[in-house]
Amino acid sequence: MSRLATPIRKNDSVLVITGKDRGRKGRVLKVLPGKNGKIRLIVEGVNMIKRHTKANPGKQVKGGIVSREASLQASNVQLVCPECGVQTRIGHKLLGDGRKVRICRKCEGVVDK
Ligand SMILES: [Zn+2]
Repeated sequence: MSRLATPIRKNDSVLVITGKDRGRKGRVLKVLPGKNGKIRLIVEGVNMIKRHTKANPGKQVKGGIVSREASLQASNVQLVCPECGVQTRIGHKLLGDGRKVRICRKCEGVVDK
């Protein structure tokens, strides 16, 4: 049986449990394969960084400061269960039709719809 390096997936709601954005909730926008098999995530509104951009009139780009999300380690977040709304560890369950789904360890609710 193969095991995913992280059970977090795109569009999951997560809670940041460590770092400067600890306590912040957001939706996973991107799951990125990092170095050494460590998965990194882009989470909406979390780990914002400011970037100075140069104006490029040819491309209709205005110069200035743009903020955007920087990636953070998947181990810095926990899933927020869509059923019970609590941060939780993820378990797995095999359904009768052979599908393997993620479940909430707290309420046993199925996370994958
Ligand atoms: Zn739950």
